[in-house]
Amino acid sequence: DEFGQLEELDKRHFLHPTSSIQQQQDMGPSFIFKEGRGIYLEDIKGNVVIDGMSSLWNVNVGHGRTELGDVAKEQMAKLAYSSCFGTFSNEPAIRLSASLAALAPGDLQATFFTSGGSEANDTAYKLARHYWILKGKPERKKIISRTKSYHGVTMGATSATGLQPFREFTSSLAPDFFHVAHFNSSALRKLIEAEGPDTIAAFIAEPIQGAGGVHIAPENYFKEVKNICVEYGILFLTDEVITGFGRTGKWFGIEHYGVTPDMMCFAKGVSSGYAQLGGVMLSEQIHEEFKKLSTGTLLHGYTYSGHAMACGVALKNIELVEKENLIENAKTMGEKLLAGLKQIQGKRKIVGEVRGLGLMAAIEFIDKNRKSPVSPLIVNEAAKRGLICRSVLFDGQDTIVIAPPLIIKSEEVVKVIRILDDSIHEIESNE
Ligand code: PLP
Repeated sequence: DEFGQLEELDKRHFLHPTSSIQQQQDMGPSFIFKEGRGIYLEDIKGNVVIDGMSSLWNVNVGHGRTELGDVAKEQMAKLAYSSCFGTFSNEPAIRLSASLAALAPGDLQATFFTSGGSEANDTAYKLARHYWILKGKPERKKIISRTKSYHGVTMGATSATGLQPFREFTSSLAPDFFHVAHFNSSALRKLIEAEGPDTIAAFIAEPIQGAGGVHIAPENYFKEVKNICVEYGILFLTDEVITGFGRTGKWFGIEHYGVTPDMMCFAKGVSSGYAQLGGVMLSEQIHEEFKKLSTGTLLHGYTYSGHAMACGVALKNIELVEKENLIENAKTMGEKLLAGLKQIQGKRKIVGEVRGLGLMAAIEFIDKNRKSPVSPLIVNEAAKRGLICRSVLFDGQDTIVIAPPLIIKSEEVVKVIRILDDSIHEIESNE
């Protein structure tokens, strides 16, 4: 049959990203998706599941949006792509950079485009270092990031990522990356003092840590961190790859904390996954410095920086987020989701902390000296009942995370909560 055939080809030829090779070889693909509508995905066997992770925290406007398909088709037919190197430009890239400048916090006014979040992070580290070269301080080159952080998988982003297994995947990392405990501003100060403030280029943080398990910073944390960065003259960078474009109930996650970054990485929600796009935004001050480039050339650029089709799709995606009030919806549906998770917490003994902000949420499971974690079992149960969520096992955590599309409706949130509760109940009663 069709599934069997595709399964064989998948096992033989397709090396899946972030996957267990053994599981893929033993089990083959669990879902071969063929279609998506709103918060739902359908596989080739006809199973319909709720995409409770917005796929990879990115399909914010939901699946099957023909408006985005239409824009892509039109732009593809007219001009899919042209170089943006040097003085060449195209209209969608120009318009998107202007639209981003209007949305972004603080005085982030100029955008460098990439194809995704890892490239955005590597770009930010290089531009931060180049900024210090321009300022006559090339010794400011160290990048500080946090434990439990995820910044992507290119060599720079892997080096910045705090989750140990990603760093251990490669035998050697980029130099001059340092990590500090995730919510501890005093530890940041100590590290800066120990390393020497004049050797540090930038500090980078996710406003809410996503892949690390949805960790929400205490209210004053980012104010303290920003003050420390200002005090030592260190650039403050945010990685809004997940938290950008409405996910947390505001345009950008850092807006919850009342501070503004010097540079901001974005990807994912900028195009809701309909096109491969990311970027870095720079403050006016950094942009001014770049206008005085010592070498006369910004020697950093991807073939697809400013891809016309991708930028056109992102423009339309942003328009949909605005028109459909999806940021407000993320806030109210997020509150409803969190209230539901708190009810589950009250009922189910194996549930520890629950967390959430906007449509990013987590349920922690309490360790009762189990031999193996329960979160993968719960993820399996949920999938059987028609909901995709994700298990987080990093750093000894036993947690599931959930991040549905921002278009989710009230009755769909109820459904998500019911499936989670039933799944947890099933596993709990088998203990
Ligand atoms: N930064 C954060 C906060 C992320 O969550 C991710 C991906 O999940 C990345 C960077 C890497 O982005 P990409 O996978 O598009 O390279």
